[in-house]
Amino acid sequence: MPYFIDVILPIPLPKLFTYSVTEAEADFLKSGMRVSVPFGKSKIYTALVYSIHNNEPLIYEAKVIHQILDETPVITQMQLNHWQWIAEYYMCTLGDVMRAAIPNAFILESETVISRNTSKIINDEDLKDDEFLIYDALHHQSSLKIQEIVSILDKKNVLPVIKRLIDKEVVTVEEEVYEKYKPKLVRYVKLGTNYSSEIKLQELLEELSRAPKQREVVLTLFSMSAQTKKPIKVSELTKKSDTSAAIIKSLIDKNILEEYHLQIDRIQYSGEENNPIKILNEPQFKAYHEIQESFKTNQITLLHGVTSSGKTEIYVKLIEEVLKEGKQVLYLVPEIALTTQLVNRLQDYFGEKVVVFHSKYSSQERVEVWNHVLENSSKAQVILGARSSVLLPFYNLGIVIVDEEHEASYKQFDPAPRYHARDTAIVLAHLFQCKTLLGSATPSLESYYNTKQNKYGLVELHTRYNNVLMPEIELVDVKDKHKRKRMTGHFSDRLIEEMTETLKAGHQIILFQNRRGFSPIIECITCGHAPQCPNCDVSLTYHQYKDQLRCHYCGYYSVMIKACEACGCIDLDNKGFGTEQVEEEVKDLFPDSKVARMDLDTTRGKYGYEKIITAFEQQEVDILVGTQMLTKGLDFRHVKLVGIMNADNMLNFPDFRAHERSFQLMLQVSGRAGRTEERGKVLIQTYNPYHNILQQVSTNSYVEMYKEQLEERRNFKYPPVYRLIKITIKHRDYNKVNQGADWYAKSLRIIFKTDVLGPEFPPVSRIRNQYIKHILVKIPPKQSVSKTKEAIIKINNSFSTVKDFRAVRVILNVDNY
Ligand code: ADP
Ligand code: ZN
Repeated sequence: MPYFIDVILPIPLPKLFTYSVTEAEADFLKSGMRVSVPFGKSKIYTALVYSIHNNEPLIYEAKVIHQILDETPVITQMQLNHWQWIAEYYMCTLGDVMRAAIPNAFILESETVISRNTSKIINDEDLKDDEFLIYDALHHQSSLKIQEIVSILDKKNVLPVIKRLIDKEVVTVEEEVYEKYKPKLVRYVKLGTNYSSEIKLQELLEELSRAPKQREVVLTLFSMSAQTKKPIKVSELTKKSDTSAAIIKSLIDKNILEEYHLQIDRIQYSGEENNPIKILNEPQFKAYHEIQESFKTNQITLLHGVTSSGKTEIYVKLIEEVLKEGKQVLYLVPEIALTTQLVNRLQDYFGEKVVVFHSKYSSQERVEVWNHVLENSSKAQVILGARSSVLLPFYNLGIVIVDEEHEASYKQFDPAPRYHARDTAIVLAHLFQCKTLLGSATPSLESYYNTKQNKYGLVELHTRYNNVLMPEIELVDVKDKHKRKRMTGHFSDRLIEEMTETLKAGHQIILFQNRRGFSPIIECITCGHAPQCPNCDVSLTYHQYKDQLRCHYCGYYSVMIKACEACGCIDLDNKGFGTEQVEEEVKDLFPDSKVARMDLDTTRGKYGYEKIITAFEQQEVDILVGTQMLTKGLDFRHVKLVGIMNADNMLNFPDFRAHERSFQLMLQVSGRAGRTEERGKVLIQTYNPYHNILQQVSTNSYVEMYKEQLEERRNFKYPPVYRLIKITIKHRDYNKVNQGADWYAKSLRIIFKTDVLGPEFPPVSRIRNQYIKHILVKIPPKQSVSKTKEAIIKINNSFSTVKDFRAVRVILNVDNY
């Protein structure tokens, strides 16, 4: 009987591919293992086994696999089921999901590169013929790709030869096939076994009396060992005894010290004992009980608790319960780089059990976390991470917590899979038959709507921990202030007064401006020309610090112009303002205060955020200016005043969610004020203080906002009442985009009639030289979502067969955010 496997390839083709295997291989293989397979004329891929069967493919002849790469599955069956859901729901391929889910180190491709190991002397006789060919080729060329080796050896199955060369240490692989990942080892020392008794040790010290430096090292090691039971690092010993590597080496050579290596995990916990978790106050305890009650009948519960009500402490209590059952916890946050505070808090309670999954981790670090989770190691019981951590190989998940569930950054924008981590986590929890808790001070309309539809339970927490009052919010009419000449730059007299007072009292201030850079538009006073990005249809933003004009869409930059490019006039005007300008004005207004800025430009690099957050926490900074990064759940103790520099550009943003978003942003940033004893204060500067959203923000009226916005969404057929699929058509050629989009929309209208919107150019209609047009398909509440998607896929397939449109890119975005 012939044997076959269906595999997932990490490429955006919709199908699984069938390969032929021997009976023995079929016996050995399990779904979730990796195999290397030939693909196309000369490509090699790492593929993932999806199923094993006896059905020969009808339309093509199945190729033979090259090799099995694993002894046990690296992907669980649960993950495969989850991926299947993601691919179907978000209209992408399993290959897309595979790419997003598994660490790069797990995937070998034709592009993998090997090079000669120069630190090893090789005897030609030790090499077999095919091995020698490669070895020799590497003398003429510093590195070789797998594909090149295929042509040198004139055979396809080259991985075994490469493996032998690696084993013999003849070559190293830049993207190692078998285990690109190497755990990081740390060198430790201990006293040689000969010297374990006190007498021997005394003798040794006497012996060393003529070698005082060595003696010092031994004494230091002895006292260090007495203080801690932990292993002692060579690096620590070197430092503490103020000695050199050479002296330590000579002690090792004399067998006085013994060296050994231990594998460390990069994500280390440095604390000693765990702290007991906090005792919940009465409202928290009540909420905790209501959550447990709600879980009896609801799979999913939303905790709507005002900022600083202590939601985190409630999560902690729930986590403690789940850990007692020996199950894993997934704790999702919108942006892991902003959660150092949270990591420390969780590690205080749960110590080593907490593992963090970070988008800025190296491939190796990701593998480490992956394996811990897969093996259900004691080091991966509480998994704290952003979006992509929902794709980890969970073993026995006991609860999912989604903090700040309203955050838009939970939705992946590009590339596919364009998944929403909150919703994907809910499905994951479902697969494990465990509960999901969503938490927010400003829930998304979607989730709140679901509670009203009785799909989710709802638990509310209205008081701040310690009973601090919610901050007092004052709206400042900027138009009026301008008229009465009460503005200094972008600061109203009210804001300056409050800032002065706050600083005098020794408290801190946060200033929020939702734009980075200095000013978004530079305009010529004479002819009105504004410098544009050459690749995108958008004006360039002036960044004063670097004296550059920058595009926030494609990264293009040029030096700041001295005169108008169109008419040569040297009078240029700044329109709008960003964080840079706010920072500069603050420095002029308060020259004695320390000012820092937190936005994309100041937080690049791995510890970019941490430095700024810590400096602010330690009160080394008095005034922090920043973008929406500031809103994400940070817990500062000494902030008394928050200033929102300009509410209007958020409110006027052309998007159906703009009002909801503005409400959330403003309330969240306000929530950073007055979190300890004293009540905080928030000033919102605006041209339109009577705007409903601003009124609702100032009275903290979430429910009112919800009702009003929901009414609008219902009237205009938007989520959460209707569902949305956004179709983006993209091409370099303006006419092609128009023709393609028209064709597509027309086909959609035949089926969905008036529920199709567009095609329309978005406000920025060209990005990176690609023209863009959007079509929206609205799905009414009673219409089948899966049938709708099927119909769209059919249209999509016919679209791609039209010759003229072959190069036109189509992007499907389900539940577009
Ligand atoms: P939220 O997540 O709702 O904004 P946090 O959980 O960050 O609020 O709590 C705000 C502050 O109050 C934190 O510094 C937290 O340590 C403190 N806190 C909350 N609940 C308790 C409690 N039960 N005991 C002691 N401190 C608490
Ligand atoms: Zn651009």
